Amino acid sequence: MYTDFSMLINGQKVQGTQEEFNVLNPANEGVVATCRNASVSQLNEAVGAARKAFKTWQYSTDDERKKLLIQIADKIEENAAELAEIVVKEQGKPMFLAQAEVGGAVAWTRYTASLDIPVDVIEDSENKRIEVQHKPLGVVGSITPWNWPLMIAIWHIAPALRAGNTVVCKPSGLTPLNTLRLIELMNEVLPAGVVNAVTGDGEIGNAMSEHQGINKIIFTGSTPTGQKIMQNASSNLKRLTLELGGNDAGIILPDADVDAIAEGIFQTAFLNMGQTCAALKRLYVHDSLYDQMCEKLVAIAEAQNVGNGLEEGVTFGPIQNRMQFDLVNALVEDAKEQGADILCGGAPLEGKGYFYPPTIVANITDGTRLVDEEQFGPVLPVIRYTDIDDVIARANNCSVGLGGSVWSSDIEKAQQIAQRLECGTAWINGHAEVLPHAPFGGCKMSGFGVEFGQAGLMEYTVPQTININK
Ligand code: NAD
Repeated sequence: MYTDFSMLINGQKVQGTQEEFNVLNPANEGVVATCRNASVSQLNEAVGAARKAFKTWQYSTDDERKKLLIQIADKIEENAAELAEIVVKEQGKPMFLAQAEVGGAVAWTRYTASLDIPVDVIEDSENKRIEVQHKPLGVVGSITPWNWPLMIAIWHIAPALRAGNTVVCKPSGLTPLNTLRLIELMNEVLPAGVVNAVTGDGEIGNAMSEHQGINKIIFTGSTPTGQKIMQNASSNLKRLTLELGGNDAGIILPDADVDAIAEGIFQTAFLNMGQTCAALKRLYVHDSLYDQMCEKLVAIAEAQNVGNGLEEGVTFGPIQNRMQFDLVNALVEDAKEQGADILCGGAPLEGKGYFYPPTIVANITDGTRLVDEEQFGPVLPVIRYTDIDDVIARANNCSVGLGGSVWSSDIEKAQQIAQRLECGTAWINGHAEVLPHAPFGGCKMSGFGVEFGQAGLMEYTVPQTININK
């Protein structure tokens, strides 16, 4: 059991003063660490420290910030083994995936360090120059979920710092340890107060979204929480980036090569045991390929080695928490009652831990909970279709719009269909691939704003037009 995790306020390690909570290992339900939640007055201290640090940090040069971000990337790399182990123990994913998460955190930090913040020259004439500068916003509040906790924390913090903001971060109470350690490492190189961390759940998150000392919230999590944050943010017109839930459709066209795409479909649907915002969550397969596709997916699912992510050779871990485990179970039970066929998996594994095997559900259609709701877990409904316009309408008949995909051997045709999908990212012959240089975000109830790339960085800035009469 770990004993040395702390919050970080103004460069100091401090313990929360509120109630104790246990961080559980989803593979065995054992206690990984016991922490204490922050009080609202500790949150106020953290915001106060970030505001104070902002006074000087906002004027740090681009070179200084870039250098510090590279030092942060180096720190993460030096401590990669420890961070990956913490991620496996509290999040549950297999070690290779935790290593990929830490590697992603490094890559995103380095890429963000390389970006520049432009000055846009609108006019430069004999008598006048107008330019638009992009200034930092102030204090950024980062609220993160439990599925990719370390990488998402970096997605929030690195661009905030690059643009000259200071940060107060609140990780999910289910997986706080990796982020607390990350922020401790950051504080070994950053000036005090530039990045702070507080523990807590809805109450502290709520207080952050209402806080008058916070200028922007970057939030990754569920749509209902995003809606609450948006309501609270109005009091001081906080800027918002909301990365919320999705229910991504994938469409397999009749000309697709099933052998070539089956592995890709499986991996992007079950990435992180399906607990990935932009995982493929509803698979629409043309009638002519339906049986072949199901057969292939079942073979891949049955070849998975389900177990504790710390064990050698494990490819598939547990669901992260009891609530999500119960939801997945309820959705599959409902599908059974509606007459769907469970081709593999379909029931929790016996014993300790939140293990649910990769589950393929066939002969199911829209109007069933498993298709209409975000399962966020290791179960994929495979839905038969015959008409392309009809399947596009069904893919779009959804309140959320994060990602979507079209799988085909005819790229041109696939692109025409992809462009008709109502989602923030449409992939062709792929899904769930996020990259540091490609803007990523949702439409409809999946949120607004983007992360990554130049466009993502600019969301941490406010424009100032300088109008010079020469
Ligand atoms: P959640 O909304 O329950 O919690 C996310 C965070 O919000 C946690 O830190 C939580 O403590 C905090 N929180 C809870 N109530 C709050 C409140 N009232 N005010 C402020 N903060 C509050 O989400 P989750 O269950 O941790 O994450 C799963 C969801 O996140 C899924 O819907 C998934 O699709 C989505 N997600 C989206 C993306 C994306 O990039 N779009 C990425 C990952 C996850």
